[in-house]
Amino acid sequence: MCWASKEIYKCGLVNIGEGNISLRVKNQEEMVITPSMNNYLNPLPEDMVHITFEGKVLSPIKNPSSEFFLHKYFYKQRPKVNCVIHTHSTYASILAVQRKALPMIFEEMGVFLGGGVPCSEYAQAGTEQLGKNALKAMGKQNAVILANHGLIIVGRSVKHCVFGAQLVEKMAKIYVNSFMMGEVYELPSENLTELVKRFQQEFSTA
Ligand SMILES: [Zn+2]
Repeated sequence: MCWASKEIYKCGLVNIGEGNISLRVKNQEEMVITPSMNNYLNPLPEDMVHITFEGKVLSPIKNPSSEFFLHKYFYKQRPKVNCVIHTHSTYASILAVQRKALPMIFEEMGVFLGGGVPCSEYAQAGTEQLGKNALKAMGKQNAVILANHGLIIVGRSVKHCVFGAQLVEKMAKIYVNSFMMGEVYELPSENLTELVKRFQQEFSTA
């Protein structure tokens, strides 16, 4: 989680005071989540908050991220999810305020994300409804844009999630800029069988 914190900060996917990362605690109804106001510059293992899905903090005197409900929702609904990352990365957030999905424009989106990135219905930050709307919109994919808010990436591992967060931001940047230049061509849905197969084998969490 410390590595992931530094990585997403270094890439400009989060500013101080926004975004969060969590990991599932294997075989327990528990997770470890970044604290409120995570220190992305120098995160320490002891900063991370061990918390049950019921919201009981098991670490001594710590304040979990306010988006705890959002993370919990994915762990409860998707047993294959081992990591959740939430960012307010700029280009994904441009689509979020437009309430627009990111279409599948590059083949790697199929392999790592399961296709394009849908956009959820709006719900207030910090609520369980935000998780419900996000999961519903995500479908069988690994990423969803949160209306007027940011992005959620889920994955089987922390590495998958960090890579997914970087990939979505790059794709969103290409898409937003291409859109301003004129027509954007999505990948045709046929001939994607191999990509779908690889996604299902290695990266799918649904
Ligand atoms: Zn947020």
